[in-house]
Amino acid sequence: MSPIEVARNKIEAASSLMVLSGAGISAESGVPTFRGAEGLWKQYRAEDLATPEAFRRDPTLVWEWYQWRRALIATKKPNAAHEALVTMERSLKDFRLVTQNVDGLHPMAGSEKMVELHGNIWKLRCTACGRITEDRSLDLPALPKCQDCDALLRPHIVWFGEAIDPENLQASMAACRACDVMLVVGTSALVQPAASFAAIAKTSGAMVIEVNPNPALTHCADLLLLGRAAEILPQLLA
Ligand code: NAD
Ligand code: ZN
Repeated sequence: MSPIEVARNKIEAASSLMVLSGAGISAESGVPTFRGAEGLWKQYRAEDLATPEAFRRDPTLVWEWYQWRRALIATKKPNAAHEALVTMERSLKDFRLVTQNVDGLHPMAGSEKMVELHGNIWKLRCTACGRITEDRSLDLPALPKCQDCDALLRPHIVWFGEAIDPENLQASMAACRACDVMLVVGTSALVQPAASFAAIAKTSGAMVIEVNPNPALTHCADLLLLGRAAEILPQLLA
């Protein structure tokens, strides 16, 4: 049996499937990953902009970067990998998708049983009252303000050094422990806590399958499907 066939059988027979996705699953939609060269904006690295310190120092700069990323993502559509996960969700009785992506392409494809661990680039959150709104039109250089309390709004994104929403973290950990198959797609597994999810699932007895053209889970994957997500995931459907 080929690795693809082994994976397909395991997924079809899974009593609980968890999928962890990262920026790589959206690469073929044309959304740059952070660590690829085309992910750079001006001379900045994501690590210098996606932080609470950067936003305190220069909220206009950080909002300009998000404006650039939002404009780019607005032109992109889900690809065959996002779509394959929707088919899996609908055909398996116990399915959970945890994504590190903030681009909103999973929900756009139709995923429902999912956690957006790092937030969503289309949502804004008030820095004072915490109210969350969705707004696709920003009018920079005027910074967005809360309609309730007039305080500055920020992207509803978990920045470097910030904590994951406890409910989202709990749901993700529960899925790690409950699943008997975990599919890890397009993540470099460098950002915690998601970087530990595969090891947690494995310790709890799950089989870990990685899909990546540049594998990152060499220590932990039971099965590697070397290649691009949009090419491999459709082949995993029964
Ligand atoms: P990453 O950029 O660190 O790593 C991307 C991974 O995807 C790499 O391992 C790479 O080999 C792999 N990859 C590249 N092309 C692929 C393809 N066609 N199919 C399958 N895999 C492919 O991404 P990360 O691990 O998700 O961590 C980056 C952080 O940055 C995350 O927290 C995320 O929130 C954020 N981010 C999100 C987006 C997005 O929403 N689309 C884009 C960039 C960064
Ligand atoms: Zn407010």
